[in-house]
Amino acid sequence: MENFYQDVLKRIERASKVLNLPEQIKNVILNPQRIVQLSLVLKRDNGDLEVFQAYRVQHNDAYGPFKGGIRFHVNTDLNEVKALAILMTLKNSVVNLPYGGAKGGISVDPRSLSEAELERLSRAYVNGIYSIIGSKKDIPAPDVNTNSQVMAWMADQYSLLSNNYVPESFTGKPTNFGGSFGRDIATSFGGIVVLEEFLKTVDNFGKTQSELKVAIQGVGNAGSNAARILAKKGYRVVAISDSRGGIYNANGLKIKSILNEYEEKKSRDKSITIMDTKFECEKITNQQLLELDVEVLIPAALENQISQKNASEIKAMVILELANGPVTFDAEEKLLAKNITLLPGILVNAGGVVGSYFEWVQNNSGDKWSKAEVLEKIEDRMKESFADLYQVKNKLNTDYHTAAFVSSINKVKEIMSLRGRI
Ligand code: NAD
Repeated sequence: MENFYQDVLKRIERASKVLNLPEQIKNVILNPQRIVQLSLVLKRDNGDLEVFQAYRVQHNDAYGPFKGGIRFHVNTDLNEVKALAILMTLKNSVVNLPYGGAKGGISVDPRSLSEAELERLSRAYVNGIYSIIGSKKDIPAPDVNTNSQVMAWMADQYSLLSNNYVPESFTGKPTNFGGSFGRDIATSFGGIVVLEEFLKTVDNFGKTQSELKVAIQGVGNAGSNAARILAKKGYRVVAISDSRGGIYNANGLKIKSILNEYEEKKSRDKSITIMDTKFECEKITNQQLLELDVEVLIPAALENQISQKNASEIKAMVILELANGPVTFDAEEKLLAKNITLLPGILVNAGGVVGSYFEWVQNNSGDKWSKAEVLEKIEDRMKESFADLYQVKNKLNTDYHTAAFVSSINKVKEIMSLRGRI
């Protein structure tokens, strides 16, 4: 993932120029404070031994404890985790959370593991990073291919090693083990708040909700919940996909029925794809999905999906980056030239970490809030953050992406200076 990391550096470079940031300070901000790389040994169910590379990158903790998810993916490598850790620092500052940024990952295809193997690997990862994580040090959370079950194993392992009940060491846990109501949909809920705040500024492109066509790449935590929320609100979700391809219906997909069937089948058979659902629709490739004639395009899968190769084919009027880094730096320039608005992931998908923050606050206070209470707090935080960004963008007369990087890097610089680190 060298190019993803390089793209993050280029975006920081661009923002640093706007800020007139001295080279030395930029270098301090660019470099992670700590990088841990582990070789995790997993004993497979059949007795074979297999080694997996794992990482935790703690980028910057000037604002508070490090915070960021853990990804299980076969393509995960150190550069990807470094890029994601930097983005976490910036994201937390965009939404004014008292956290720094970190990220973790294991280079593994979790579909190739049994449930018992997945649990052993998750616990082995916690054994490897135990000394550097904790509620006041570094609080991991779910990301691609990790979920509340994985967080439960990890928080349990951390509690066993500490000889203490410390669910606040992880967020994104099940609700009966310290998890927060609303955390499961927090990322997409927050993203839709941002989308609707943006749509207000362009008068919904002169359309009603049911006329606004939406295509969503990815049907995991972020993508499926975004589809459900948008369909419930009356938007026309015309396409959705997973890693193998997608489905399309120009009149709008029956999202609730499709996702209920998909999720039910998937819980029994990991090899099921969204294309196996029986509802009226056409099969399309991920490439075709990205190039559909829609108003709103939501990449909610992985990085580098919109690149120089396909940027000129994108027809959407706004791209909501629910995934981290789905648009490459070069593609971004092309999209801007075509007047396509790119709403930045460091704001758009921050609802997840905002939800995690409220989970952590509840864990620390022993309180339990209702789902409505949590979602209202997330909504307020996302609206405030969008309004701040909108103001910066207009003041600097720039695009949303550049404005988000300029404003977050400036905040990180200020807190580092206040603490005497630079
Ligand atoms: P997930 O594992 O639940 O789902 C990932 C989805 O992407 C799956 O549907 C998978 O089939 C699809 N996918 C994988 N490879 C693909 C490919 N090459 N082409 C098309 N689709 C592909 O993961 P998630 O938690 O939904 O995360 C998705 C994105 O959102 C990631 O970039 C993640 O970093 C970001 N994100 C997630 C959260 C969160 O709370 N879960 C928070 C912030 C950001």
